[in-house]
Amino acid sequence: MVALVFPAFPTVTLPVTGRPERFPVRRIFCVGRNYADHAREMGADDKEPPFFFTKPADAVVESGSRIPYPPATANLHHEGELVLAIGKAGAMLAEADATALIWGHAAGNDLTRRDLQVEAKASRRPWDMAKGFDKSAVVGPVRPGALPDAALRCSVNGVTRQEARLSQMIWPPAAIIAALSRLVSLAPGDLIFTGTPAGVGALNRGDTCKVEIDGLQSASVTIA
Ligand code: MN
Repeated sequence: MVALVFPAFPTVTLPVTGRPERFPVRRIFCVGRNYADHAREMGADDKEPPFFFTKPADAVVESGSRIPYPPATANLHHEGELVLAIGKAGAMLAEADATALIWGHAAGNDLTRRDLQVEAKASRRPWDMAKGFDKSAVVGPVRPGALPDAALRCSVNGVTRQEARLSQMIWPPAAIIAALSRLVSLAPGDLIFTGTPAGVGALNRGDTCKVEIDGLQSASVTIA
């Protein structure tokens, strides 16, 4: 047993649909651009391959939480997304072998300080503080097993803001996992946010934002 200078922080975990055990979160990877209509609304080329950024594991927010409006932004945005929950290790994978790493799926909201992201893009600086801030990764319960094509909806106070089919992704889950596994070794507990469709927009104090994907429990958050 290694002696620690202060108690180790607890493992971040998520509820699992239909089971009492929880899913332990190791790392959070996110795809930056994976729906053509969202790439265009952000002024980007929709032919450019998607790329990756990260959030810390302790940015996870469980569905149903109330969170404070984050500091250092005046333009907090929602991004409704499918989240892949990885259950096996893998590196340098072919697409044909990639989906075997998926343990389950969840609905998620990649909360974004859009103003800081715009500044970072303009000054060619990293996105970390635009994307990886405290409580920036809203994730619903993880449902074990495969997920067929489904509809994704993101609503604010009951009004639909984003609506897409998962099959509209430029890179489907197998391609995302294969590509990411060529950059890092994937491990059980990793989460992958798979990108957001068009319709991203601002969240204000008092708003409740709900991401729904058919077949999964929703990921809802209220900005206090
Ligand atoms: Mn996103």
